[in-house]
Amino acid sequence: MAVYNGSPELLIVMGPGATLEQTEHVVARLEEAGAQARVSAGREVTVIGAIGERERLAALPIEGYSGVEQVLPLLKPYKLVARELNPDATVIEVAGRRIGDSYFGLIAGPCTVEYREQTLETARAVASAGATMLRGGAFKPRTSPYTFQGLGVEALEVLREAREETGLPIVTELMDPRHVEDVVETADVIQIGARNMQNFLLLAEVGRVDKPVLLKRGPSASVEELLMAAEYVAKEGNDRIILCERGIKTFETTTRYTLDLGSVAVLKEETHLPVIVDPSHAAGRRQLVLPFSRAAAAVGADGIIVEVHPRPEEALCDGPQQLPAAEFAQFADEIRHIAALMGREIG
Ligand code: PEP
Ligand code: MN
Repeated sequence: MAVYNGSPELLIVMGPGATLEQTEHVVARLEEAGAQARVSAGREVTVIGAIGERERLAALPIEGYSGVEQVLPLLKPYKLVARELNPDATVIEVAGRRIGDSYFGLIAGPCTVEYREQTLETARAVASAGATMLRGGAFKPRTSPYTFQGLGVEALEVLREAREETGLPIVTELMDPRHVEDVVETADVIQIGARNMQNFLLLAEVGRVDKPVLLKRGPSASVEELLMAAEYVAKEGNDRIILCERGIKTFETTTRYTLDLGSVAVLKEETHLPVIVDPSHAAGRRQLVLPFSRAAAAVGADGIIVEVHPRPEEALCDGPQQLPAAEFAQFADEIRHIAALMGREIG
């Protein structure tokens, strides 16, 4: 994973017939000028992001190099995650499961790992219904310090057992840089929760890790702030990032948060990263989870992350919004159909 110092200033678009040698030549000239180059070889064209001092870059006769079609300034504040720099959609693969482009991720599992059987029962149910990954919180960000805070490392052990039994990769949240080693050892995808979206030290920490990151939008964060948060991760070298819309704070009180599906469409324009939706935390009650999920698939999301519990009425956290495990198979079938209409298969 390359670490980028400074922000890309220029986008160099190679012509459709440009050769590898021509691209390498441009990269070599950039490096001679003290700049870094980020090459993305897309299906249609190759683009090079030039990272370096604006003045030194401006002095290079880049437009004259053979194979170069166009040199454009990179105007957006986010660079590495911008679609401009990487026109093809990124597909993130985890243990054979894929999210992005034509693959729709179906991530499901309990809000929180409460005890072994609760998690294993859920894992079996969602695996047999075709989920692609298992979610489950070990470290929980709770509004009240007096509520259950998660089982911590003990929960990680349960999640490993669930993975062993079902084969499902694990998505679990990292809240504290002091837990990086433990969480990274178990997680296949590291979740950064909504409340930590702008915890820049934590973002940099996961940027240095060789595991994909699921970055949730803060309830009060704009789309641009979400993209800048992703940029913090990518800047450290980890560009395997999945963005997640999970609802924002508005004046509306009939749902737990307001699910901003417009953000999904905007994000799909602005970034090459996969974008998924969490209908559960947005809805706050299970009756809304299916309609929100249908809408997410229809707006072009690359997946959903849904809370499921064997007995939601007994859940220690977020009971009202968790789908009963027994109903998950039917839910998954509905989503599979809508994803198929959008040209996607469950990855
Ligand atoms: C979660 O997914 O467990 C969670 C706490 O969600 P959020 O960070 O979106 O509130
Ligand atoms: Mn929850």
